[in-house]
Amino acid sequence: KPRLYSGMQPSADSLQAGNYIGALLQWRDMQASYDAFFSVVDLHAITVPQQPEELREKTRRTAAQYIAAGIEPSKSTLYVQSHVRAHAELAWILSTITGFGEAGRMTQFKDKSQRYGSDATSVGLFTYPVLMAADILLYQSELVPVGDDQKQHVELTRDLAERFNSRFGETFTVPMPVIQKDTARIYDLQNPTAKMSKSAESDAGVLWLLDDLAKSAKKIMRAVTDNEGSVHFDRENKPGVSNLLTIYAALTGRQVGSIEDEYAGRGYGDFKKGLAEVVVNEFGPVRERANELLSDPAELDRILAANAAKADAVADATLADVYDRIGLLRRV
Ligand code: ATP
Ligand code: MG
Repeated sequence: KPRLYSGMQPSADSLQAGNYIGALLQWRDMQASYDAFFSVVDLHAITVPQQPEELREKTRRTAAQYIAAGIEPSKSTLYVQSHVRAHAELAWILSTITGFGEAGRMTQFKDKSQRYGSDATSVGLFTYPVLMAADILLYQSELVPVGDDQKQHVELTRDLAERFNSRFGETFTVPMPVIQKDTARIYDLQNPTAKMSKSAESDAGVLWLLDDLAKSAKKIMRAVTDNEGSVHFDRENKPGVSNLLTIYAALTGRQVGSIEDEYAGRGYGDFKKGLAEVVVNEFGPVRERANELLSDPAELDRILAANAAKADAVADATLADVYDRIGLLRRV
């Protein structure tokens, strides 16, 4: 089976609707046909200010949500990034073939560093995409399913793989991003031109996977729309309604057109009520299953340890090859 790699940061207690629609739903469907590696990327989460006790808890919670959403740790390799030391080691090697200007063009860095100011922005946030390249290349991954906010990072990964291969000989598989076009980006409910994010400054427009269901319904009812009162898709002029339509379609597997037809001549109130019901039906069982898994953290930790061992085996083989090729003296 072809290899597939993807991951999410444990940057909040709960994942958000964009993570679920833009990533988890694809992962779940792809795991049968691929040798999939799904990581909770805790080393990425420490590139911004964080609380150690909370990080541990968020890491478990993120893993639990993967499983609750249908990732099976017996079929896929579901592990915590820091458990596999090769990630940090390969990131160092790759940083030595990454151009400073090349890294400086990454828009995620520009967005996130703006929030923290230059003194609170770490070098780790700058080299984040290099660590992500290491994550992907360690497993000789062919496919990387991500939301389109991560497309630029996967392109950098491809460039680094090609550069390494041409300088030091064929070592890495050059990966392809997989981005589901219509649902690639879910926007903030209060600010529908900004992407929905776990680490948004305000959570008023973030739909959390594990939130109280009544609270999620309320957030949908309060979502920003427009004055037109007509339910149709127009990203340019109706970003709020278009975003709600995207979420509706993604969670029901329906076409946007059929949802527009259903709500023709009805107001936004009806439409939002309909969407709230869809969200509650979809997130409710995931939330329940996640909470069940979190009630036995020791068992969850055992699953993660066994999967980290599977990941180690593949990652160590790649790293040994890399060390040889760049001329590091072998320890005998
Ligand atoms: P953070 O704010 O901490 O960066 P995030 O919500 O952006 O968190 P990540 O952990 O960075 O989430 O990304 C996990 C996966 O979810 C990636 O594949 C990313 O492309 C996808 N993703 C994140 N936000 C969205 C979104 N709004 N729409 C679609 N996909 C998304
Ligand atoms: Mg992100």
